[in-house]
Amino acid sequence: MHCSEARTAISARVDGEELPPDVRPEALDAHLDACADCHGWGERARRLRVLAAALDLA
Ligand SMILES: [Zn+2]
Repeated sequence: MHCSEARTAISARVDGEELPPDVRPEALDAHLDACADCHGWGERARRLRVLAAALDLA
């Protein structure tokens, strides 16, 4: 899995949307375990999502 593909799937997951049909959740989790960049990116996306919800922007 490429990072760009992983990040599309991560943002879908953070938003509570379906993963892209060609992305298996276990492949995404494996990428997150292996790729520190995407892991950190996902953490930031999640935090931003929580903050936006707290500010009632979402
Ligand atoms: Zn990655």
